[in-house]
Amino acid sequence: MLEPASLGLISGAALLGTAGVRAVRGVRGLLRREQERVEKTERERASFANQLDAALHWARASQPRLKAWIGVRNFRVSAVADEAAGCRSFYLVPEDGRPLPRFEPGQYLTFHLPTADEMRPLVRCYSLSDRPRDDYYRITVKCVPRGEEEGGDGRRGLSGSHYFHRDMNVGSTLAIEAPQGSFFLDPTDDLPVVLIGGGIGVTPILSMAAALVHRRDRRHIYAFTGFRNSGEHPFKASFEELAAATSNLTLDVAYSRPYDSDRPDVDYSHWGHVNVDRLRQVLPSNNFRYYLCGPPGMMESLVPALLEWGVPVEHINYEAFGPASIRGLSDAAVSEPCNVDFVRSEKSLRWQGNEESLLDLAEQGGVRLEWGCRAGNCGQCRVMIAAGRVAHAKRPGVELVDGECLACIARPVGDVVVEA
Ligand SMILES: Cc1cc2nc3c(=O)[nH]c(=O)nc-3n(C[C@H](O)[C@H](O)[C@H](O)COP(=O)(O)OP(=O)(O)OC[C@H]3O[C@@H](n4cnc5c(N)ncnc54)[C@H](O)[C@@H]3O)c2cc1C
Repeated sequence: MLEPASLGLISGAALLGTAGVRAVRGVRGLLRREQERVEKTERERASFANQLDAALHWARASQPRLKAWIGVRNFRVSAVADEAAGCRSFYLVPEDGRPLPRFEPGQYLTFHLPTADEMRPLVRCYSLSDRPRDDYYRITVKCVPRGEEEGGDGRRGLSGSHYFHRDMNVGSTLAIEAPQGSFFLDPTDDLPVVLIGGGIGVTPILSMAAALVHRRDRRHIYAFTGFRNSGEHPFKASFEELAAATSNLTLDVAYSRPYDSDRPDVDYSHWGHVNVDRLRQVLPSNNFRYYLCGPPGMMESLVPALLEWGVPVEHINYEAFGPASIRGLSDAAVSEPCNVDFVRSEKSLRWQGNEESLLDLAEQGGVRLEWGCRAGNCGQCRVMIAAGRVAHAKRPGVELVDGECLACIARPVGDVVVEA
């Protein structure tokens, strides 16, 4: 049967003759080429707009100063969900009902938790554990075992993770700083990615994987995660759902202490820790962009092993949830003995060279400094250096003015005078 368009041409042909048909075909060809040109230009424009958008996003997020709001904003817990033993998610919505600013997958929120002293909240950071969404932020908190009598910062009875697990329920409110952090996916990048998450360090990794799958990113994603066993394995179903939604995501799960009932190749892929031997078995090459977040032991062994495997240092991005200095990535890891004077406390202390940071030295010498994350992110431990020089073990997660440093990641380079 003839299509209506062909019928039109036949009847036209009867009227126009062969030359007329050729002319009509010529015009149609012209129109088709014009249409293709317009579509190509449109595709190029859209791709350019995407690239521009991504570059702007990247630039905005790389600026620690450009936070979505200043100070703290009140949020309400809209839902809670248990993810694994001692590991609970909190869904957060703004109390003012105004729109929720976007964040970069991998970034974290800084919480000001109430204490008896209103002027001195307990400051703790938690990574956003879901992809950016319009309606809520989600964090996931692992309850950290600790001594009965003291919180980590010496204030009796205070602990961020216990506060969340004990006191935060649907309807509770929380004072939160805007999303921040420089550990996030570069949207302008086209290298395939390897995401590595150990224990509760899986939170920013899940956010990244979910965002990549959601935006149908064409890069291949390898997600290596490591837990003790199925009891301590959060987000198993979430990762499996992501892998089912795309052929681009390869999951590899390591259990270090599997239960007898945990089935190899079903519940987990590999017995042991996430290490470079496992990466070499699974990955086709080392040419990937790596994003790592995990316990200090994992970071301290894996980052140098990646460097040894020939991964360029600029391909390795990592986040530490607490004190974790990665040797080989910073000159500040080596620091000679020197004198450190804390002027306001009137204490002169000797830096031996093996301390973790100025904050450690201060605490050992009885100088009281505020701190929140001990990882160079929250800015609570900022102090002025009145004389001398310090080096940061990693790029500070907050903007500093001239002469300021973050005591939790700063090490003296020669004698220094600190205004504290
Ligand atoms: C960027 C970032 C993102 C994070 N994301 C998450 C997350 O998604 N989920 C999650 O559960 N946790 C996350 N954390 C960790 C979280 O902020 C808290 O550190 C954790 O909940 C423990 O706090 P706490 O108050 O319960 O414990 P505390 O006992 O008060 O200890 C707080 C932290 O400081 C360390 N510490 C305490 N005292 C000392 C000391 N004297 N010397 C050295 N170290 C000490 C502890 O090891 C612990 O990491 C993140 C941390 C950072 C920096």
